[in-house]
Amino acid sequence: MFPSLCRGATLQRLPGSVPTKTGWFLNQRNFIISGCIEPFHTAAMRKKERAVWVMARLNAQYPETPVPLDHNDSFTLLIAVLLSAQCTDKKVNEVTPDLFRIGPDPVAMASLDESEILATIRQLGLAKTKAKNVRRLAQLLLERHDGEVPASFEELEALPGVGHKTASVVMAQAFGVPAFPVDTHIHRLAQRWGLSRGESVVQTERDLKALFPREEWNRLHLQIIFWGREFCSARGCDGRTCSMCRELYPNRRNPVVTRKA
Ligand code: SF4
Repeated sequence: MFPSLCRGATLQRLPGSVPTKTGWFLNQRNFIISGCIEPFHTAAMRKKERAVWVMARLNAQYPETPVPLDHNDSFTLLIAVLLSAQCTDKKVNEVTPDLFRIGPDPVAMASLDESEILATIRQLGLAKTKAKNVRRLAQLLLERHDGEVPASFEELEALPGVGHKTASVVMAQAFGVPAFPVDTHIHRLAQRWGLSRGESVVQTERDLKALFPREEWNRLHLQIIFWGREFCSARGCDGRTCSMCRELYPNRRNPVVTRKA
């Protein structure tokens, strides 16, 4: 399934990396993969080693990390992320061309009636609330920020419909600020991969940030989402099906019970 990560090759040792019990050479900031990786099937990995393995697998699987929500600029990204709450990105991408045609910027969006916004996003969950928030958010951008999307967590989270996760996505994808937006899907995978035992997305975000190099956060966030979509649905697996968990936990016998966020 992962030909680029087959048995028999090595993780290249870089200056400053450290040999571990299981034979890994860890260099958190600069590790690279040379050819393939030899998974250590007989040894239980420690958390740090699992993190390195996960990062290597995800980099091999998803070398490119395109932003899944279609947008033109920071404003349209913010709106798209707001609309994606409890909705698939695919659904959001179906409605945003019409919405952004009539409301391409805060001035145009703020001048629309709520009903006009609602008409374009009706097929999304929570459409009424979202339409109200989109219009009010555009107004507040004009009132508070000269029509610009603010590049700070505090100011973003003060906007209607914008929670910490939405603000994190915008900070990461619009402004390139390292953030690790954790939703219920990333929370679930972090547990299944033994990277966090957090009982909330807040705790899981804290754990993942402590585990991975800061400069990798934005890329990893997207890669984990991609893996979740392709392999790891909420109900589809008990943690023993695909190669990721089998390599991380070769001796896993019992199904994984995931704590809900
Ligand atoms: S084995 Fe199951 S839980 Fe683990 S990554 Fe694969 S699909 Fe997800």
